[in-house]
Amino acid sequence: MVDNKLSLQLWIDDASRQSISFGDYCIRSQSEELCIPGEELISRMVIALEVMDAAIRHGLSGKRSSSGLVGGDGQKMLATLKEKPEGYLLGTTVSKAIMMSLAAAESNSCMGRIVAAPTAGSSGVLPGVLFAIGESKNFDRKHLARGLVVAGCVGLVIASRASLSGAEGGCQAECGSAAAMAAGAVVDLCGGTPAQVGDAVAIAMKNMLGLVCDPVAGLVEVPCVKRNAGAAAQALAAAEMALCGISSAIPVDEVIDAMASIGHSMPCTLKETSQGGLAMTPTGKSIARCVHNS
Ligand code: SF4
Repeated sequence: MVDNKLSLQLWIDDASRQSISFGDYCIRSQSEELCIPGEELISRMVIALEVMDAAIRHGLSGKRSSSGLVGGDGQKMLATLKEKPEGYLLGTTVSKAIMMSLAAAESNSCMGRIVAAPTAGSSGVLPGVLFAIGESKNFDRKHLARGLVVAGCVGLVIASRASLSGAEGGCQAECGSAAAMAAGAVVDLCGGTPAQVGDAVAIAMKNMLGLVCDPVAGLVEVPCVKRNAGAAAQALAAAEMALCGISSAIPVDEVIDAMASIGHSMPCTLKETSQGGLAMTPTGKSIARCVHNS
């Protein structure tokens, strides 16, 4: 049997041997893979960033989903941050990442146009993290586009070794993967080494392991929108740790394999069927009755 699994560790070691950043390594390998120049790849990622930016703005308009379950929380947080730029507890960067992740995920729930990164359900994490870091570090769109290439490469490895689907691996595969992709991107954007990118991916993924997929009423709304915000904070925490030189005791590929194995062990009730977890709480069931009978 042919093993088609990609290895993030192998790519990291390769980049380290060549003494180049992981971002440069990813741009080079992906432009070869896609048979396009690196500048073209970056231009495509800039377009994706524009869609992400528009999704944030759409979410911040305060629109509510057709069920009425979500919408307006990003706007609420933006109003608070205008008065208190550092938020109550978390500081400007993390607060902004949470606010923009809420907004982009709300846009998805309101049927807005999003970039599935890696999925629609987890489409708030990367926009929130990248634009918050971009604002705090004054990174331009082209630099942020490098981060998207790194995130994409991390996602490719996760897809090949595990899954990016809540129906297959639970929310650890969606929001967990998005957090891992964002953490790796941030470390590279901030000048971290390839090894630190791997540590950030591993730490973010480890902190999201076991997360189930239990959407209330079968809608990608509750708990999905707030999970995106939580995953954005996890991504930044993992990136901060990795940039401080904290490494993961479990190597990154093994962490991804553990996610796959946990996903396989998870009962079907906790994999997008809305038959368990929050979906089956008394309130979750009551919401489902209202949504489906209206
Ligand atoms: S709970 Fe399920 S549907 Fe919602 S974001 Fe997570 S994986 Fe996607």
